[in-house]
Amino acid sequence: MDNFTAPINWYPGHMAKTRRLLSDQIKKIDLVIELCDARLPHSSRNPEVNRLASGKARIILLNKADLADPDITSQWIREIKKTGYEVHAIESTRLKQKEIISIIQHAKEDTVKRTLARGIKKTLRVMVLGVPNVGKSTFINQLRGKGIAQTGDRPGVTKSNQWVQITPYLELLDTPGLLWPRLDDQIAAKRLCYIGSIKDDILDMHMLAISLLEDLAESAPVPASERFHLENTQLRGTDLLDAACKGRGWLLKGNQYDYDRAARIILDEFRGGRRGRISLEKPHCDNTEVSV
Ligand code: GDP
Repeated sequence: MDNFTAPINWYPGHMAKTRRLLSDQIKKIDLVIELCDARLPHSSRNPEVNRLASGKARIILLNKADLADPDITSQWIREIKKTGYEVHAIESTRLKQKEIISIIQHAKEDTVKRTLARGIKKTLRVMVLGVPNVGKSTFINQLRGKGIAQTGDRPGVTKSNQWVQITPYLELLDTPGLLWPRLDDQIAAKRLCYIGSIKDDILDMHMLAISLLEDLAESAPVPASERFHLENTQLRGTDLLDAACKGRGWLLKGNQYDYDRAARIILDEFRGGRRGRISLEKPHCDNTEVSV
């Protein structure tokens, strides 16, 4: 869809402030956990992390793997590994605290061993970074586990910016690092709208639903045609939305198509994974080079 305009909800001032805040926070961190959406491993990453977290150890976690196509997720893992990062597919909503701790410890094993050889048992400090809605809070809650108290205010640290002690040698910054969605790349911005990274109330929902249907018809034609009763997945634009309305019976009085209802349901079903496990991005396809 050529005339889709990505809504901009991050302004230059906003971004500059976030960038400063994150750069400050990252200074105190040993390991950055970059969370992205397994259905969009390209679009849900912000290449700015490379600058912000340069020189820091980093784990990339493809979250919501339960919603993505497992084969495509494995391809992404192989590709991202080639760029030198440790990467795992996870499902934050079911993840156990022990599993996350072991992923973190494994990623920093060398540093821990090196410092141990010098007689120091190092406390690792981690923070979680990602664009809106990729599951940062869910992940942090799982990592915090139940009944873990905050270590309390440290001098110069505000209440919403506290360290939580996970194990005697692992501390977590309890505020997620909120990255702005990438808006330089219009395709990425559009896909971020599908996963709810950009608020719906400033979007043209009809256009967004059409765009999602088009993406689905390309990347997952069989589930898309079954779910929306599309006989002809070659359709594009409004014709595609009309066909879905007809197929699913989203009609108003006088048999007019109910675009509002259609758009809401199409987006909700995608966000909730109710159309099966679908990845919208494959490595090495157009516009999905792996960020290094
Ligand atoms: P944040 O904005 O990055 O902090 O994202 P949240 O933690 O608030 O999560 C956004 C939504 O994604 C919530 O509805 C979560 O329940 C859901 N979510 C988080 N992780 C997963 C996951 O691994 N799988 C699924 N299916 N949903 C998840």
